[in-house]
Amino acid sequence: MEHALRAEITLSAAPPDPAGLESLVGSVGEESLKRALGTRGTGHLSGIAVVGDQLHVTLESDGSRPHQALLALVRRLGEGLGRAQKVGVRSFRAPSYRVRFELEGDLKHPVTLPLPHTLHVEGRIATLEMRDLPEEALRDNWMDRAVTLLQEKVRRQSYEGKEQYWDLLTQSPRRELRYDQDPTEGMLARQWIRNGPTKGKWFLGPTAAHLLRTMERIARTEVLEPLGFTEVVQPHHDSFDILLKTGHLEGLPGEFYYVTEPRTRDPAAWETFTDLVKITRKVPEAELAKLVSPPSAVSCYAQCPTIYWWLSGRTIAQESLPLRVFDRSAVSNRYESGGRHGLERVDEFHRIEPVYVGTPDQLVELREKLLARYAHVFDSILELEWRTAWVTPFYMQQSGGVGVEDATARVKGTIDFEAYLPYRGTREASEWLEFQNLSIVGEKYTKAFTIRPQKGELWSGCSGIGLERWLTAFLAQHGLDPDGWPAKFREHVGPMPRDIRFL
Ligand code: ATP
Ligand code: ZN
Ligand code: MG
Repeated sequence: MEHALRAEITLSAAPPDPAGLESLVGSVGEESLKRALGTRGTGHLSGIAVVGDQLHVTLESDGSRPHQALLALVRRLGEGLGRAQKVGVRSFRAPSYRVRFELEGDLKHPVTLPLPHTLHVEGRIATLEMRDLPEEALRDNWMDRAVTLLQEKVRRQSYEGKEQYWDLLTQSPRRELRYDQDPTEGMLARQWIRNGPTKGKWFLGPTAAHLLRTMERIARTEVLEPLGFTEVVQPHHDSFDILLKTGHLEGLPGEFYYVTEPRTRDPAAWETFTDLVKITRKVPEAELAKLVSPPSAVSCYAQCPTIYWWLSGRTIAQESLPLRVFDRSAVSNRYESGGRHGLERVDEFHRIEPVYVGTPDQLVELREKLLARYAHVFDSILELEWRTAWVTPFYMQQSGGVGVEDATARVKGTIDFEAYLPYRGTREASEWLEFQNLSIVGEKYTKAFTIRPQKGELWSGCSGIGLERWLTAFLAQHGLDPDGWPAKFREHVGPMPRDIRFL
């Protein structure tokens, strides 16, 4: 037998006629198994026992999902038993649920699950036994998800050590670059920026702010507005519900800044806290921990999840497709930890995120237009040395959403834009800076958020325009002296704010 599910069903009372119950279980059980398995396999019922108000049964099958049969059995048992013996079904659980399946790869080192279980692997054949599964687990397919997760862990072991997929698409001409310093150091020396009061954040003084806003204006007026994108303003906190749907919560839990709320705003509840602050002039951390709730949301990580939420459950009229919007109000927060560096890898950054929704054809066409407008900006306004590459996006690797498609088709997936940073070394040996990207994700998010077209298929995609990265790439190649900047860029910059002199 491939699968065996041992279940314990609690009745509302001990049945007056236990023998009658056993024969009822026998008949509805076999029928439920047949229905649930259909042509996918055969199964049978064993170990039927009635002990007081408890009914024990074991369902075995060589097809899939005996828990489906259990659900049917419980439903029909409730009806039959109610009629015959005036007893109902109160709840059920599974002390043991065992499945055997073939792994999609070789198990290189042990894997675990965070629920009571044992796992035996012989060659590619795995036997997983989950224990003490509550009713919710049986109703909500936890076993199927546990098997999917094990497969994912095994697959990931086979990727380990392999480089991220990266394939050059386009490459700008090589440029004569006169600057070879780290622009963050240069901006610090000129007091344009100051290391922020909390981790990985910068305070941009008027000059740096003016340059960042110039980058933003260029993106808006030279790329987005000409292509018909209009602005939205979205909230800054992302709900867990949204991140469960996008897969971010399982993919990136260590990169979020979590949001907590005060448990109450009643000043009386906060009195000990405020008194301690007044006396000690320190943060009474233990007291604070008592007064705030566990996290209930995260600070914006990327803008597209909440834009998809905005569209969720809606049908978009044909005339509004391709839908093109962008957000520039939510600031991205990410816990970068050891990776932080300069203005280019920070914990708080400013992005414009355009999101597009349309038919597959519309999106492929829009991508070409976006690529052309971006190229115009990087070649003719910022005059960058840059390149694009086709890369495997995280949602294909980590949260197993869309299927990995034909690699040569290159329709669904992500294009990274990278700039050469002379201060990091030679073009060949140094790591270039990813300063933005552009993705088409197919139906992954329109399905997850139930966003419908009037007819046909609805796809979506997004592009992350990292303004700190645009600025770093530009300054790293052209330096901080406006005299050395390309003429078109200087037109966009206009008059620079006067540097503030600190003595
Ligand atoms: P990286 O691989 O550099 O960490 P990412 O793949 O995490 O980037 P995305 O989530 O695709 O980045 O975000 C899109 C854009 O946001 C990036 O191309 C970049 O411009 C910007 N960005 C991402 N992380 C940071 C950061 N820590 N600091 C500044 N900009 C960032
Ligand atoms: Zn996005
Ligand atoms: Mg990252």
